[in-house]
Amino acid sequence: MLQDKHGRTISYLRLAITDRCNLRCYYCMPECGIDFVRRVDLLSYEEMIRLAKIHARMGVNKIRITGGEPFARKDLLTFIRGLSAIEGIDEIHVTTNGTVSADKVKEFKDAGITGINLSLDTLDAKRFEKITRRDEFDKVMQTFNLLLEEKIPVKINVVHMYGVNHDEMADMCNMALNNPVDVRFLEEMPFNGSNTLRKESWTAAQIENELRSLFPAIQQITVPATETARVFTIPGYQGRIGIIPSFTRTICGGCNRIRVTPTGQLKTCLYDNGVLDLRKMLRTESNDEVIEQAIRLAVSLKPKDGFEAESSIPTSEGRESMATIGG
Ligand code: SAM
Ligand code: SF4
Repeated sequence: MLQDKHGRTISYLRLAITDRCNLRCYYCMPECGIDFVRRVDLLSYEEMIRLAKIHARMGVNKIRITGGEPFARKDLLTFIRGLSAIEGIDEIHVTTNGTVSADKVKEFKDAGITGINLSLDTLDAKRFEKITRRDEFDKVMQTFNLLLEEKIPVKINVVHMYGVNHDEMADMCNMALNNPVDVRFLEEMPFNGSNTLRKESWTAAQIENELRSLFPAIQQITVPATETARVFTIPGYQGRIGIIPSFTRTICGGCNRIRVTPTGQLKTCLYDNGVLDLRKMLRTESNDEVIEQAIRLAVSLKPKDGFEAESSIPTSEGRESMATIGG
């Protein structure tokens, strides 16, 4: 088992496989994009399979593929087939913007994908273009409908942006009325490549208040602490509603996850700046045991919460884009 000094067991690895993306969501990166890393600096699929095997031996059973846009990287499904063949890996989820994957949805289950988090902040095509700076709304909806047809579990990630899409909360929730999908509202974080957070951003508590006034019968349900979300049901709705307090960080006590960035930096918290250079180890160390011990040590020191992790970073350092970190 992989454990930290606070008694948390780590069983969930989030692998960001690229920092590249075809969209430019304003909360994630500047309009001109970011300085994308050179391909040679990205972990190769072979390196990531080796890493996944090392983690699986330590008890990791769930992997999320994220980025950047995972489907911007070639041969993603072949890589996922490789991951799903690893003993001990029971779940493989992908977080995607859904703009370039519609033609592959029919292959998802067979490749081993057990769930998709689809990012969709609005149901208005014009607004979508404003937020993402690209005119791709119809493609996302096409992917969404195909995912439902294929009965692939879907969670919709909505970044809650007061003044931008807050007036659509009820409509977004209603996607869960006749569809078995979870709609989750994420607090906006300052990971947009500029270190600024719009001062209008709402906290989870404000989002919850609004949900309660829109749906007076809404009820919070108990979920495992590792879900790191507050989860609600609305009578008559097939799917659930969630709130992710990713900025106010009230859910760190149940955290069971670690991250690897596209360049192979191990992050034991979203808010740290990388605690172990796994790429260097993978490229110079032939003994997996040595890498395993280094990961164990780094994980044992996982900060108590995102505030503790953040406090170790010089305030002068700008926040990266979520695409560099792996959202
Ligand atoms: N490109 C894929 C996508 O958009 O789903 C995967 C990577 S993206 C960085 C992962 C998730 O992070 C998305 O749901 C996105 O909405 C969310 N995200 C990105 N920047 C964020 C920010 N500044 N605050 C909150 N969530 C953010
Ligand atoms: Fe791309 Fe996802 Fe970032 Fe939007 S949130 S720019 S889709 S990586």
